[in-house]
Amino acid sequence: MKLSARPEIRDLALALAAVPLALGACQAPDAPAASAADASAPWDWSEEYVRAAVNEVRAGRDLNPDSWPGGARVAVLLSFDVDNETVQGLRTGEVSIGPLSQGQYGSRVALPRIVRLLDRENIPSTFFFPAWSLKLAPEQAGLIQASGLHEIAVHGWIHELNTSLDGQTERRLLIQAVDAIEEITGERPVGYRAPSWNHSPNTLTIVRELGFLYESSLMADDRPYELVQAGEPTGVVELPVEWILDDAPLFNPRGNSYMNPRDVMQVWIDEFDKAWEEGTMFLLTMHPHVSGHRSRIVALEGLIDHMQAKGGVWFGTHEDAARYVREQAGMN
Ligand SMILES: [Zn+2]
Repeated sequence: MKLSARPEIRDLALALAAVPLALGACQAPDAPAASAADASAPWDWSEEYVRAAVNEVRAGRDLNPDSWPGGARVAVLLSFDVDNETVQGLRTGEVSIGPLSQGQYGSRVALPRIVRLLDRENIPSTFFFPAWSLKLAPEQAGLIQASGLHEIAVHGWIHELNTSLDGQTERRLLIQAVDAIEEITGERPVGYRAPSWNHSPNTLTIVRELGFLYESSLMADDRPYELVQAGEPTGVVELPVEWILDDAPLFNPRGNSYMNPRDVMQVWIDEFDKAWEEGTMFLLTMHPHVSGHRSRIVALEGLIDHMQAKGGVWFGTHEDAARYVREQAGMN
């Protein structure tokens, strides 16, 4: 669940070299071999080089509507990345029985506990699956779909890191993932979240080619926005995420940044209260195998109580939010 390290100079050269290809066709190009483009030190890079690198994928127009459905002043989008075994060894190939059992806790105990809470409170949410997580425990789909409230979206094939793949492989894995998820759920997913929020130079091109309605892995705003690729508006809605609004780093009992779940809940509440004041959006990323434990579900319950008591809140799936902001912005 960690982001990859900041790109090395070589990666930046790769990213830059992909720009003209991304502009031209909807095919996913192989990330080209490192060119001699600009392997110099960052402080010696040319004006054009830095600008092209930054502009590869950028935030375009703000899509926050004047009000949310029902006249609500704030939208609440709860996401659950159902990583399970994929982040407990499968994605790296370091297969080990102990960590895999921790992954199984996700489908066996945590997901049912979370879905029970959401269904009881009538809160639509979005569940992003690496395909393998759903293939290993397909009963998760029925559980999520039973209420008719929730959305299932795509989170890669086996939680692969996009920047470690060539474009053809990345494209093949995402197509496989969409097909596998559709086969199990009966519905073709319309939303994409990159595993580890990791975008390669090819990711957005592939997302566009496959016709996704929205993307949810980038961080340029608190509000929904349109993605711009190499200066061109894409029509793809970005529903931005943030590490502050992710349960995984702060709930890791073996990590350096561990926090008491009740303190984490207060961070979420403060983020929500400001979103409410500003009339924008509150998007929280959680993981069943992280937040579905007994002492953590308390934080989600407390947050939901707070939001419901405040009023003026629209709870929706990511798909509902993306469709709504597109309509409000006249993008249909
Ligand atoms: Zn994940």
